[in-house]
Amino acid sequence: MRFRYTFLLPCAWLAVNAGEAIGQDRRLPVIDMHLHAMAASSQGPPPQTICAPFSEFPVWDPASSYLETFARIGESRGCEHPVQSEPTDDALMRATFERLERHNIIGVASGPLEIVERWKSANPDRIIPALLFSLSDSSPSPEMVLEWADDERIAVFGEVTIQYQGIEPNDDRFEPYLEMAERADLPIGIHIGMGPPGAPYIAFPSYRGRMHSPLSLEDPLMKHPRLRIYVQHAGWPMLDDTLALLYAHPRVYVGLGAISFGLPRVEFHRYLRTLVQAGFGNRVMFGSDQMVWPGVIDVALESIDSAEFLSAEQKRDILYNNAARFLRFSEARIAAHHALH
Ligand SMILES: [Zn+2]
Repeated sequence: MRFRYTFLLPCAWLAVNAGEAIGQDRRLPVIDMHLHAMAASSQGPPPQTICAPFSEFPVWDPASSYLETFARIGESRGCEHPVQSEPTDDALMRATFERLERHNIIGVASGPLEIVERWKSANPDRIIPALLFSLSDSSPSPEMVLEWADDERIAVFGEVTIQYQGIEPNDDRFEPYLEMAERADLPIGIHIGMGPPGAPYIAFPSYRGRMHSPLSLEDPLMKHPRLRIYVQHAGWPMLDDTLALLYAHPRVYVGLGAISFGLPRVEFHRYLRTLVQAGFGNRVMFGSDQMVWPGVIDVALESIDSAEFLSAEQKRDILYNNAARFLRFSEARIAAHHALH
């Protein structure tokens, strides 16, 4: 089992629920707010192994390189359920589509634009195009992103992965993009929360644990009153900060993302249970954060299915209704999704 460079890129890491749906002839639709359309080699040379879920995170003695510890994660006792990546770009796309069909998923898929467009043209009913974004010298300008949005080449600006670069959303360098997204009414998905364990010691020296707090969104929210934004990975583990953000800013949503397959299941359920029981079940959205391991989609859906504290109605909200509201889908579009099977 290998897990060498896993997560080097972002996330770099019905009144019926998904589990019941799997066994039905006609399954109600699911919206995956955090899918990726990436190269098979985007997380390192395939095959790569990921733990879905982890049952224990790494312990590291700094006498050695963390990369050595990280490379052995897939062989560790914390990795009871390893999932393998696909060998080629085409195999990755096909295996992902197979999951989308099996579970009746429509996915907001982000990645390099050329790959997103290939996936979109291969499966137009199930792929909603989105732009994977980080700040660098080669980043598209706000004007370029706006043009892509106007041309309907992207419907969501995100996953925005600036946390990996140590840049918070209230940074001056990101401000022009917030201004553009508000002006264009382009929803933003931003990575705030779970990355790979030990991220600062892998390839992201500016990454900080304190940046898991989504309260860094407060000033941008007040500066841009019409901005639509969702917090991917739900700000884990900053539960109190996430609750405060949701309470103070009723327009903010959270996506579950990697926490739905990566966290020890008890911890994921603790976090999700509190979000819902605190009164925010109408703003939690399913996301798989599938990158190169299509099998994590099954695990992510099962983590909702097995949440006994959720009612069937709450599961439908998380799996479809909240995302349809956030994305402002028309009744016709919702009806079209419900005609898919
Ligand atoms: Zn992410």
